[in-house]
Amino acid sequence: MKALGPIQKILPCLCLFCLLLMAVAGTGLAADSHQQTARQPLSFGSGALLHGLWSPAELAGTEADRVIGAVGEPDPSFPQPTGREAVLPPVPPELRGAIRRVHVRGGRKVVALTFDLCERANNVAGYNNRIINLLRAGGHKATFFAGGKWMRSHPEKAMQLMSDPRFELGSHTWTHGNLALMDQAQIRAQMEPTQTQYALLRQELARRAEAKGLAAQMALVPPALRLMRLPYGRSSALALEELAQSGYPVIQWDVEGERDEEENAPAILAKNALAVVRPGSIVLLHANAVPQKSFDILERLVRGLRKQGYELVTVSELLRLGAPEAVADGYFTIPGDNLKYDAIFPGKGTLKPDLTRPFTTVPVP
Ligand SMILES: [Zn+2]
Repeated sequence: MKALGPIQKILPCLCLFCLLLMAVAGTGLAADSHQQTARQPLSFGSGALLHGLWSPAELAGTEADRVIGAVGEPDPSFPQPTGREAVLPPVPPELRGAIRRVHVRGGRKVVALTFDLCERANNVAGYNNRIINLLRAGGHKATFFAGGKWMRSHPEKAMQLMSDPRFELGSHTWTHGNLALMDQAQIRAQMEPTQTQYALLRQELARRAEAKGLAAQMALVPPALRLMRLPYGRSSALALEELAQSGYPVIQWDVEGERDEEENAPAILAKNALAVVRPGSIVLLHANAVPQKSFDILERLVRGLRKQGYELVTVSELLRLGAPEAVADGYFTIPGDNLKYDAIFPGKGTLKPDLTRPFTTVPVP
């Protein structure tokens, strides 16, 4: 028998080693498709797309953007499903619950600024162009939680946010539903039309990109909304399970940027937020032009965060930097401080309150 050469001797060992590696890797990937997704680079849009489709003046907007109701009458009807809505894998255990902040590895000074774009069934909200302009001018990253109906009533603005590489978009339900008061079918009727609206706008964006020779840029625009924020911070075990199974990590906040907005000046509000912010914080603000001081708070907040050495990241980036801190039900600042909204906002949270009647007598259907 011919003696084995050095390479031939080592081959069986290499093959065994490879098989072992493949088995380990294969098991890991099969066991957790979210982990596999988590290793892929994150992208939220394309500068070429943003500046190829809109002029600087169109992106900057006008004062009229901040006028509530300027875009017309509310239309709560559902959009027709496109059949091309993405199906998300269930949320892995480590991202379940209502996430308030992230324990960042190594204490890296990162913060996620988040802006809700709330719109109920019987109102039309605005778009605070000053906030978006400030973020764009400073190159600041941010995450927007958009109501599905808001995206439909503000299609140009929604597509601009979708295209901007610095901005991540998540869902804020169709008409601001209080999910704690809803059954499974009602929760789905808040989540699914919102994803459909995103898919419709993404289709329109792709059509425009193609016409401008920018079709390849669409690969950088996420195929779906992949995070959600609970309106009123309200949830239930049923809602959290439904959202986890549908693939939405629930993102709340640990810093309320507009807390006691009516009673305080923006400088005080920004100072209060800066006093409690820490590495891994998620800051709640609004860009729907409903709170009046959001821009003035943001201006001071960004300056203060920069001074303290903080880096701004999107929520998905933040989630990759450490372990989330989650609770079973969201709240504003103190557990239970949002329960009052169950009675204040009728239609299970989807309608404006009737201010002519005391809140305690407003029926919750
Ligand atoms: Zn909201």
